[in-house]
Amino acid sequence: MIAVLEKGCPLKRKAEIVSFVESSGFRVQVSESDNQSLIGVIGPGADKLADALAAMPGVAEVRPIAPPYPLVSREHHPDSTRVKVEGVSVGGPEFVVIAGPCAVESREQIMTVAESVASAGATMLRGGAFKPRSSPYSFQGMGKEGLELLAEAREATGLKIVTEVVAPDEVDLVAQYADVLQVGARNMQNFRLLSAVGEQPKAVLLKRGMMATIEELLLAAEYIVAAGNPRLMLCERGIRTFERATRNTLDICAVPVLKERTHLPIIVDPSHAAGRREIVPALSKSAVAVGADGLIVEVHPDPDTAVSDGRQSMTLPGFAQMMEEIRVVAEAVGRTTAVGVG
Ligand code: PEP
Ligand code: MN
Repeated sequence: MIAVLEKGCPLKRKAEIVSFVESSGFRVQVSESDNQSLIGVIGPGADKLADALAAMPGVAEVRPIAPPYPLVSREHHPDSTRVKVEGVSVGGPEFVVIAGPCAVESREQIMTVAESVASAGATMLRGGAFKPRSSPYSFQGMGKEGLELLAEAREATGLKIVTEVVAPDEVDLVAQYADVLQVGARNMQNFRLLSAVGEQPKAVLLKRGMMATIEELLLAAEYIVAAGNPRLMLCERGIRTFERATRNTLDICAVPVLKERTHLPIIVDPSHAAGRREIVPALSKSAVAVGADGLIVEVHPDPDTAVSDGRQSMTLPGFAQMMEEIRVVAEAVGRTTAVGVG
């Protein structure tokens, strides 16, 4: 925040203003231009001083410091952005649901999930073909064959495809098949990858790093838009805290805070936050209520045999039931949901 002092403000007044800011626990940075002093008020929560400062004699104006992410900030783009994905609009009145397995495992698995989630009202299918696993010994994904299966599932159901890309030199390959390129939590600050997805035209879903602040997420988003791609959605997927009762802690506060700070659509991933399927419906409903634009949820035809994230994957009937519950909340907050096909 910056306090702009009146031109010719006496030194004594200026000293009083500086000492007020410092005694309130903030740092001060003074700059002079054109016979006018600008007093930068630095530190978390500085905006709380705005009213008191504005009322002090000698202060002409108090204004926020422009955020360091101009392209994604709401300050510069007050209207919410709608990202269009082949006929599905994210960030508008419709609450959009992306559902599917953690990883593509076989034709039968992906086709079964695709048909079931489409009939329950999902409009996009998720499924990893390249998996960024914490252990080098875990299943790393089916690769190109997985992408081909996703394209087949799109052909059969009309669902749009969301799938992860983990390396800059695989962006072109994944973009040939996907409708939305997912950048995962582990890669949120892989700046070469962010630029690479920013240089191609497909929409991007950027997930928050598990130890990233909201500001770091917005700066990562800025890389993608600055590279030329405005078709970006952000995803809150839980952060790492001291709490062990869930896999991660869903930062539900991040949704309204992001809505204040950016014009981009916000998606919530309750699955990677929860770590277990029983509490996914509750988190999903909270996401709708708090103002998110959509969900990305893990669903598997037989979660106990899933090669990854089975514990948090919903069953097909469990997902269909949850969609009914979401519809009620969506309606209550003035959002629409897609009607299932099939
Ligand atoms: C995923 O979506 O399967 C995934 C790996 O998510 P995250 O990057 O949020 O851990
Ligand atoms: Mn997963």
